[in-house]
Amino acid sequence: MPVATTAYPHRDLTKSNAQFQRAVQRLPLGVSSTFRYWGDDRTIYVHRGKGGRTWDIDGNGYVDYRLGYGPAILGYADDRVDAAARKGMEVGGVFALSTEKELTVADRISKMVPAAELVRFSNSGTEAVMAALRLARAYTGREEYLLVEGGYHGLFDAAMWMADMDHWSPGGNADPEVVPYGKGIPPTVKKLAHLVPMNDLQRLEDTFKTQGDRLAAMLIEPIQGNCCGISARRDYVQLARDLCDRYGVLLIIDEVKTGFRVGKGGIQGILGIRPDITTFAKAIANGYPISLVAGREDVMRTFRYGGASHGGTYTAHSVSLAAAEECLRILDETPALDTLAGYGERLKAGISEILTARGVTHSFSGHPSMFGIFFAAEPPDNYRAWKTSDYSFYDRMAHYLHDLGIIVEPDSREPWFMCEAHGLDDTCLTDTLRAVETAVDLTLQDQADGRLDAAE
Ligand code: PMP
Repeated sequence: MPVATTAYPHRDLTKSNAQFQRAVQRLPLGVSSTFRYWGDDRTIYVHRGKGGRTWDIDGNGYVDYRLGYGPAILGYADDRVDAAARKGMEVGGVFALSTEKELTVADRISKMVPAAELVRFSNSGTEAVMAALRLARAYTGREEYLLVEGGYHGLFDAAMWMADMDHWSPGGNADPEVVPYGKGIPPTVKKLAHLVPMNDLQRLEDTFKTQGDRLAAMLIEPIQGNCCGISARRDYVQLARDLCDRYGVLLIIDEVKTGFRVGKGGIQGILGIRPDITTFAKAIANGYPISLVAGREDVMRTFRYGGASHGGTYTAHSVSLAAAEECLRILDETPALDTLAGYGERLKAGISEILTARGVTHSFSGHPSMFGIFFAAEPPDNYRAWKTSDYSFYDRMAHYLHDLGIIVEPDSREPWFMCEAHGLDDTCLTDTLRAVETAVDLTLQDQADGRLDAAE
């Protein structure tokens, strides 16, 4: 891509690119998650992370707003949590038996999230949501379930259905087609999954009227952590709650991204709406692998011999549990969440100032701790509306930001994540805003030159 101004710095990725060439011979796409592949000559290999920053193997430093898709709520390699994890290591790992700390951590979770009357641990978000859906099916004796367009709930087959926005035209009467996230997902699963657009109350009512008696669960992320932080209005989630009650459907609020991030009690605490089942993951242990499915006592007690199966060799690993205990203590007892949300507010204000000065229409969605940026006057209130926003501007700006030392998701659907360490280090803000200014100018230049839609 041509470079427009002399302010544009050169980022040396020689070592990362050489690593890619070696890695791709052993690892598909040279990575361990498809979304980590950013192109043959732009895939980053990390040397280390500390606080709100990451350094690649070429020595380039970045202010990091991906934070591993959210887990590093305090910042990378947090000394307090890592010290606890080291102690957890001394316990011995996993035993196929229980330890006392499971209850200690579960008690903390129930205190922070009242809907979490009973708690089961898992390892990843996928595992937790998979367990939640199984639990709902076991409890209700039904198989079908309702998803919200733009939501993401993990990598298991039942969750891998989405609204196909690439082939959908706004303005028409037709709904987007429901398609699998990729190959290998059996089409037979599709008949069990129903999708509704976020914030459309009438559609939700109608769907429950026709399908409600067959639904085991409705799954919702009230802030869509994989779709620009698009947010459910409170009345929408309240209606979902009411309809679930009326039709004997279990409401699952998926807080894998929002949990212990947007507030101590998650988005459900902010909305004041109590799910039957809820799932948490990322921020529980500042990046150590642990997740949980929790909920109403009578529902959760379906996890039993002869009931719904749940387990896993690595569940409640001593390292992750010890890290969770300390991370949740910090989030519960210190102003860490205010610090990072306050940083998010300052960052949004700074970005806004830069864009406004250049006459670029924009808006934000989500929560200050995880927000999406839109190049439209209003943020979309559902995935269909996202389609009408100018994401080519975002995509190009993100590309420049990487070269300028800021890591954000290349795809505009992933929000920017804040951590406590960002808020405690003012240089994160100044470095970011300086880079945003340059990236916006370069993108505007590309736009003026008609180069915005060109392939990277
Ligand atoms: N639910 C939500 C809301 C998520 O954001 C994610 C991951 N991005 C998952 C579930 C799956 O979590 P994991 O990647 O840990 O399996």
